[in-house]
Amino acid sequence: MEQVDVAIVGAGPVGAALAALLVPGGRSVRVLEARSQPSRDARTLALSQASREVLEDAGGWPETGVTPIADIHVSQKGGPGRTLITAAEQGLDALGYTVSYAALESVLEARLAAVGAGVSWGTPCEAIELGERSARIALAGGGAVEARLLVLADGGANARRIPGLSYAEKDYGQVAITGPVRTDKPHRGRAYERFTPRGPVALLPVGDRFALVWTATPAEAQRLLTLEDAAFLSELQAHFGDRAGRFVAAGPRASFPLKLRTINSTIALRTVIAGNAAQAMHPIAGQGLNIGLRDAGALAAILAADPSGDPGAGAVLEAYRRTRRRDAGRGVAFTDFLVGAFMDDRRLPTWARGLALTVLDVLPPARRWLAGRMIHGAPAS
Ligand SMILES: Cc1cc2nc3c(=O)[nH]c(=O)nc-3n(C[C@H](O)[C@H](O)[C@H](O)COP(=O)(O)OP(=O)(O)OC[C@H]3O[C@@H](n4cnc5c(N)ncnc54)[C@H](O)[C@@H]3O)c2cc1C
Repeated sequence: MEQVDVAIVGAGPVGAALAALLVPGGRSVRVLEARSQPSRDARTLALSQASREVLEDAGGWPETGVTPIADIHVSQKGGPGRTLITAAEQGLDALGYTVSYAALESVLEARLAAVGAGVSWGTPCEAIELGERSARIALAGGGAVEARLLVLADGGANARRIPGLSYAEKDYGQVAITGPVRTDKPHRGRAYERFTPRGPVALLPVGDRFALVWTATPAEAQRLLTLEDAAFLSELQAHFGDRAGRFVAAGPRASFPLKLRTINSTIALRTVIAGNAAQAMHPIAGQGLNIGLRDAGALAAILAADPSGDPGAGAVLEAYRRTRRRDAGRGVAFTDFLVGAFMDDRRLPTWARGLALTVLDVLPPARRWLAGRMIHGAPAS
């Protein structure tokens, strides 16, 4: 049976970035991926400067196809208040960057191949056996890998196999419709987040167009997905308004059901649970992968502090849990609060939301605090 220091289940961006961070430090790593080839997932991701730094350390920052976000315009439909958070005010070149999931996947895959830690495609983890000295991962179709540390970065597919681990889930009853759209005005690096009673709508600058994330009920989403482009654009215009210009073109649309899912512990015997496998959240504030990459960066830093130490030792696991608890917990709470506050008048009435946006607009320190948290997350303690 193959024996490695670290087995990573899942070659999504979190698992792949973690592997790319660990291999140059001398750890033997095996990445096991269920899919037979890269996903070519169409979603666009907004990544913070902190995520860029993790990916640069991993050698997985895409050199092309990245669009800087100069500012973010936040508003609510049917109510007062708006605010503009700018990179200049934060003393930054960009508040963040947009990149496609597929581009990130392919840069990380190339990086892993270059450092000799190729992904084992088409090898789903089928069973997990945890022991005091190692974790044993049985693969579909036969074969097994033994690792001193198992990292589940599989979006939540396998943690339930581990005794004591369980998820809490909340179905938002919403679906995100994504796809490229074009307006008749240049975006100049501006992203838009518009809260509406039917859910948030975001426009992210990508190249010379926008990536749309439009949240709707499942029935509404089904209808919107099947509309002709012209009818879709006209509904989008009516829903979003004209602050980004007139919508003139739309590309292929995809849809993603939205749930909040959190695990009861991010560690188990010889195991770390990272990225969406630990916390999967609403894309409303673009936090999911940013938090997942901070999971990967934190674990890599803990392991690098003792390069020849046992990567699955109890002290390592506990250090990881302690380091990540606050940031991940606050990211989940913030995202969940935004979903409720901007959609449910009983939780926060329209005037109070307007007031919150106005306070942000007139108080630069409040904007700076919020932007800082979204870029770097919450400190460990
Ligand atoms: C519409 C939308 C927009 C979003 N926008 C943003 C954004 O702007 N910014 C942001 O930070 N986040 C955003 N997110 C969240 C982001 O996409 C996720 O947080 C991120 O993809 C999580 O990465 P991951 O590597 O943890 O998991 P995943 O991307 O889910 O990857 C998990 C991998 O594990 C593999 N796997 C599953 N089961 C097994 C198994 N048994 N054996 C082996 N491998 C397995 C899967 O095939 C997959 O490749 C968005 C999400 C959505 C839905």
